[in-house]
Amino acid sequence: MMNKADSDLIRRQNRHLVLESLRFAGRAPRTELGRLTGLSLATITSITTQLLNEGLLVEDANAAQPAPRRGRPTVDLALNPQAAHVVAVKISIDRFELVLADYTGTRMTHSVKTVATHDMQASDVGRKGAQLILEFLHAQNKTAADVRIIGIAVQGAVETGAGHLVWSPAFKAGNIPLTDPISALTGIACSLSNDANMIAEGLMAREHYQYKGTAAVAFMGYGVGMGLVIDGKTYHGSTGAAAEFGHMNHIPHGALCRCGRAGCIEAYASDYGILRSAENLPVTTLPPTYAVEPEVMAALEKAARNGDKAALDAYKLAGEAIGFGLARMIALLNPDRIVISGPGIRAFDLVEPAIKSAIEEGVVLALRQNVKIEILPMDHDMIISGTIDKLLHGLDREVFSRADHAG
Ligand SMILES: [Zn+2]
Repeated sequence: MMNKADSDLIRRQNRHLVLESLRFAGRAPRTELGRLTGLSLATITSITTQLLNEGLLVEDANAAQPAPRRGRPTVDLALNPQAAHVVAVKISIDRFELVLADYTGTRMTHSVKTVATHDMQASDVGRKGAQLILEFLHAQNKTAADVRIIGIAVQGAVETGAGHLVWSPAFKAGNIPLTDPISALTGIACSLSNDANMIAEGLMAREHYQYKGTAAVAFMGYGVGMGLVIDGKTYHGSTGAAAEFGHMNHIPHGALCRCGRAGCIEAYASDYGILRSAENLPVTTLPPTYAVEPEVMAALEKAARNGDKAALDAYKLAGEAIGFGLARMIALLNPDRIVISGPGIRAFDLVEPAIKSAIEEGVVLALRQNVKIEILPMDHDMIISGTIDKLLHGLDREVFSRADHAG
């Protein structure tokens, strides 16, 4: 006979399945939910009755289908938008972007604040973030009690467990505590993630039911980053700083990187690295503390496409750095997909041949032949979408799948 712990666990798994199926489908009648989850109609009826009573679901007569002549009309179930709210915060150079979303993931409001990030003291960043979040909620007539969790996405190396930003191009200061001060000052739970991981999270959430594989999402632009998905789950490593692809060493004692080390992939393949190579500056030239203007990169791309040798060589070096890095990653993880994104892919035609030949040179055919390489146009919004997806999936899995979540 099943003991109570087992039946609680099964109930929790089934509640999670129903919530995730509705998150994926948007709305569905009970019979369809049975088909999507593989659960019996009796189980679906029992679970959805509870979820309705708890205010996690709402039911709505299905207007799209005519009511059957006999019996009850079909009723759709959907997630209750009011069941929870989340706030996603994206921090980048001189910018805090805030979005409030409801439990279905629908965005309710959006705000962008300009903040001079670079010279902020480490201890001021969390305080500033908390202040902006509280002002943002106040402007929407919401209070901290209306928000279940805050998710912060930031460029750079993060320790998700400790909630620290170890290092980021947005700040001169390092080891910036974020989740503790923000949580203490707002009274709302808070989580921290790397921005490239959030792009990976968003992509996987969209393909939730199909994608169970291993994939890397590489990010090219003002920096070089990566989000790693292993067996269908975003991989964070022991402290949350995993997949710092841009800071894997490409050439020992090589070009100076923004992280302070020499020879990182980023030092060759980021905007500033490409520009430094094209201008024939010494590799010891300090990387700029600001993002290279898009117009400057557009002019460089134009010069390369017009046959400028120095510009072409710079893009070739960048492609090699990315390609050899990906070859190592392929040998280590045997992924089935590599997605390349970021503003830097505007110049993908200029780096692609070198990426391909570096992968061919760097890893045996048996390991690389099944890897699909895809280009994904950069959409800054994917970082926010991915953060909202991560927060809501986390609530479904960790909080609302438990029958005792209200307590
Ligand atoms: Zn580096």
